[in-house]
This record gives sequence, structure tokens and C-alpha cells, in this order.
Amino acid sequence: TTTPLPASVTLEPVGFIRSCYQEKFGIPRQPGLATSARAELHLHGPCNCPEAVVGLDKFSHIWIQFVFHQTQSEGWRPTVRPPRLGGEKRLGVFATRSTHRPNPLGLSLVKLEGIQHRKGQVILELSGIDLLDGTPVVDIKPYLPWADSQPEATAGFAPDVPVTVPVLWTEDARQISESISAKIGQPFQQLVEEVLGQDPRPAYLKKRDREDFGVLLWDYNVRWKVRPEGFEVFAIEPAQ
Ligand code: SAM
Repeated sequence: TTTPLPASVTLEPVGFIRSCYQEKFGIPRQPGLATSARAELHLHGPCNCPEAVVGLDKFSHIWIQFVFHQTQSEGWRPTVRPPRLGGEKRLGVFATRSTHRPNPLGLSLVKLEGIQHRKGQVILELSGIDLLDGTPVVDIKPYLPWADSQPEATAGFAPDVPVTVPVLWTEDARQISESISAKIGQPFQQLVEEVLGQDPRPAYLKKRDREDFGVLLWDYNVRWKVRPEGFEVFAIEPAQ
């Protein structure tokens, strides 16, 4: 056909994410893997109006389209090394969910826990997210199970849910995590177990003998060690 094609498109954020994930390290590689990971999506500018979400509360899950803002300046390559393949094999960028893409856009299916209207701010409460704090969101759509779910689909190099690593606790760390759960009104221990259980280490760090790691969740630095039986949480400190 001869229809002229647009050379570029412009998008404005419709909102921003306030998330438990304060840094990239530790964020699961897909949504739904850490079901206790919570975030708020604050609608922005002209989209911050109650009318824009009328009817959305009747949906249990929503699609979030967002910008990989923290890595967007790093550009992209036609091939990438998915962590699932041990960081050794290259595949085409469009065969992966890599953050480094020609247009740095992500797509996540998340649970909609509720909608709040707080002092003129429309807030979508989300769980099961894989989104960094501050992430700009460019669209929100309701999930339609009859159209968006394909139980017979195949999934190339990532056919199944990733295997998880057992998480152990020192008595001190467990007690601190219980008091944090009471303070934030959410299951902190479960969040830590879901996050660490995914083994957040990049492939190159798995090969080294490094033992100590820290993951920032909410306002806390969760410190853990690699043990033969799993990952052991040995300290929880206020984040700097
Ligand atoms: N579910 C989305 C998708 O498929 O498009 C994201 C998949 S991507 C592999 C998930 C990773 O993106 C997370 O583990 C985290 O490291 C990274 N991430 C999340 N939010 C980000 C942001 N705003 N900027 C850069 N990286 C981000």
C-alpha cells in the first residue's frame, strides 16, 4: 500500500510507579514471581482524574506499559544474552524480554488490588510487580482472560516458571523482619523470600566466589550470604 508511515511517535507518562523495589538488583525478571511485591501507580497530569479509571476496579489484573527509564540511555543491540541461558547464548532482542530495546518499553501483567483517591491523587494499588521505583507508565489496560490468556502457548527458551532457591534466616534477621512487617502492614518476610528465591545474581556473579549481597526493599537493605543449602538472610539494616 502507499499509506504514508509516521516517522516517530511521542508518548507522555500517564503515571509513575512508587514501588518496594528501590534499585534494579533484586527485581524479579517477570511480574507475578513475587506476589507480595507491592506498588502504587500515581496517575499524572491530565490522566490524574477519577473519570479515567471508572470501571477499572471491576478487573482483577491490568497490563502496565512502561519505560525502562533507568537503562534507556544505555541503548540496545540486535542480540542479547538472556539470564535464563546463563548469560552465554545470544538471541535476537525481539525474542527476549530484555530491558535494552530499540524503544525502551516494558509490558507487565499485574494484580490490581484497589483504587484509591487520596487528596486529589488517583492511585492504583498493584501487586506482583517487577517495576523499579519511579518508573514512568505510558499506558494501562484491563486484562481480558478470554483474549490475553493462551494456555496452549509455547515459550521458547523460557518454557517454565524459574526454579527457586531456598531462603534461610538467622534468628536476629527473622525478628527484625517481623517487626518491619508490623510497621509497614505487609508481609516483609514473604517479600524477601520471594525476591531472593529467584536468585537475583547476574550470571557473571554466580561464577565468582563472592558471598555477601544486599538487596534494597522499601527502606531496608536486606543482606544475605550464599550457603550450600540456599541463601541466608543475616542482617536487615536501614537503607542509607
Ligand atoms: N515484564 C516486563 C517486560 O517483559 O517487558 C519487564 C521484564 S524485564 C526483564 C524486568 C527487569 O526490568 C527487572 O528485573 C528490573 O531489573 C528491570 N526494570 C524494572 N523497571 C525498570 C526501569 N524503570 N528501568 C530499567 N529497568 C527496569
